[in-house]
Parts: sequence; C-alpha cells; structure tokens
Amino acid sequence: MTTPIDLRSDTVTKPSQQMREAMAQADVDDDVIDIDPTVARLQNKIAELTGKEAALFVPSGTMSNQIGLRIHCRSGDEFICESQCHIYSYEQGAYASLSGLAVQLLPGNDGVLDPAQFIGTIKSDNEHFCRTKLVCLENTHNRGGGRILPYDGVAEICKWAHDNGLATHLDGARLFNAVAASGIPAVQWAQHFDTVSICFSKGLGAPVGSALCGTTEMIAFARRHRKMFGGGMRQAGIIAAGALFALEHNLEQLHIDNQNAQQLAQTIRDTEGLQLAGDRADTNIVMFDVSSRVGSPSALVAELESQNVRCLALGPTRVRMVTHLDVSNTQINQACEILNQIVTNALTNDRKLTGSGAQY
Ligand SMILES: *Cc1c(COP(=O)(O)O)cnc(C)c1O
Repeated sequence: MTTPIDLRSDTVTKPSQQMREAMAQADVDDDVIDIDPTVARLQNKIAELTGKEAALFVPSGTMSNQIGLRIHCRSGDEFICESQCHIYSYEQGAYASLSGLAVQLLPGNDGVLDPAQFIGTIKSDNEHFCRTKLVCLENTHNRGGGRILPYDGVAEICKWAHDNGLATHLDGARLFNAVAASGIPAVQWAQHFDTVSICFSKGLGAPVGSALCGTTEMIAFARRHRKMFGGGMRQAGIIAAGALFALEHNLEQLHIDNQNAQQLAQTIRDTEGLQLAGDRADTNIVMFDVSSRVGSPSALVAELESQNVRCLALGPTRVRMVTHLDVSNTQINQACEILNQIVTNALTNDRKLTGSGAQY
C-alpha cells in the first residue's frame, strides 16, 4: 500500500530528518526554574517576526488563546468574537470553565466580520451587564475555509476596539499562510493586536507548540498562567528546536501549500456534484459541499480513504481538505483525479455513495 495522501489537517505533518537532527542537537535547560536557551531563541524569533516585545512558548494553540483571553479579561468579563471561530467552537468552552468569561458572538460571512457589526456591541456600565473587554479575530479563519480576513477590515475593527477601550487578540494559528498569500508581512497584521497567537504545529510542520506574543508585561503574566494551566515545560528546547527550525526553513514553502489548495479548489469547481464553499480557497484549507445526488460526505470520505486519500467530513454536506508540506504536488494531482473520478462515477452510474456513519 502506498503512503496515504493525508489531507485531513496540516497538523499531520511529521518532522523531517533535518528537523529531527536540529531537535536532537538542541541546547536545553530547565525552562521553569530558569530559561532554556533554545526556547529563548524561539521566543525572540517569533516576537521579532510579529513585531512584539516578547513571546511565550506554550504546548498548544488552545493554551495560547486561553492565556491570551486571561491577559485581557477577568472573571465576569466578556469578549466578542466571530461565531465559528476556534476559541468558541473548538476549545471546549474553556473561556468559561477556566477563566469565568462570557462571550458575545457575531455571525460572520465565512469567518469575516464587517466592522459595522461591532457598533453597539459594548455593554454599558450597568450592574446588570458583564463588562465587554476584548475583541478576538482569527486569521486565517479555519471554519471559514482558510479565509484571509480583509486587511482594511481588520485595521478598522481593531481601531474601533482600541478607541473604545477594548483589547484585541489575534488567533493567528495560520497567520503565516495569510502572510504567504497576501504578501502582507506578519508584523503589519500583528500591529493591530495586543496579543497574537501563532501555531508551529500546523503548516509550519513542527511537531509541537505555539507561541503567544505581546508586551513584556503581558508575557510575564502569561508565564505565570502557563504554569497554572500545567504548561510549564522543563527541557522544552527539544521541541522548541523543531519550531525554530520550522520558522527558519518552512515559512517560504507555505505559498506552495496555498497553490496546491488552489489546484484542489479548481478540481472541485470543475466537478459536477461538488460545490466549493464560498467559491474560493484563500490559503491551504479547502472546504466543499457534496450534492445529495452524489451521496453523504462521510460516504465520500470513506470512498476516498479506500483509494488512499484522507480528508474529513465536517458537516451534513461538508468536506474539508487541507494541504501541507507533507503532500507533494504530484500527490495533489493524484488526489484531484481520484476525487473527480469517484464523484463523476457516482453521478454517471447513478450509484449514490451511501453507508458509513457520520463522524463530525
Ligand atoms: C489549530 C488551531 C488552534 C490551536 O489548536 P491546538 O490543537 O490547541 O494547537 C487555534 N486556532 C485555530 C484557528 C486553529 O486552527
């Protein structure tokens, strides 16, 4: 059996041989009682790339976001975010269970909010209400199909937030995919936010870790709360070396992932029975809907799997494919052909894809 073409997520990437060597050779020390030199290098590098004073290496993007919320909000406060964002959708409601926060959701258009939607969202100073403290945005937007937020909209929303005394946090798990596709540097995106979270374990290809970036004061606070959340890591230089290697070697190749996603998107446009969500794929996430004439998404996913292409069913009609550095352009060509063939066969032979339980 040949290697599967794994398009389930960009988190499935495995460290390359050179990355493993960099990890094996990393200088390490106890990063809780002291400072691990490799962690320190990584933190300096990501702080520089985002134009922030300081950064903190944490085990996951979820922890990074959750510490970010905690920097800006106290128990009983509220933050505003888009209704499909990761912080709300995929972090178990940790803002409530860990930090006692409330959330105000604004419905976006494939993850994109209009600055006008924020008008009137700040609760007045009245003892019936929670205190509105923070705006969180996500770029690229995961459930929005890797959507790049419009730059001017981001600037306007953040200016409005700051003018009204709110802080701003960016869930930039895939910010560098947005950088690669938009040509707008990370520093320029990040300047609008008080804190920025970056994942190394997505398209950048590191095995573990994220960073939270902000002012020196915020990051000192974040360090205390990382320890409280159980994220104090001792000789973390071993994994930080993977992330550092990713920043030094893998930033440039993100545009290839974005191009591969374009190719998948085009195949989906050209395949009757499939509909590309929002008719676009800005970066490395491709979402599409499967016509009921073809069958269920989980059945399509199962059929693809049997032909060596792995992806995820995300809803009653939706399938997601994600490109990353461990899928080559040749494999993308194969995946396109297999997808097109399965769907076209199902339609022309009137053999609807059925069976296999939903997993989303
Ligand atoms: C992956 C992801 C995270 C963090 O996920 P972890 O699995 O906790 O590292 C945060 N935000 C977005 C948008 C993500 O895609």
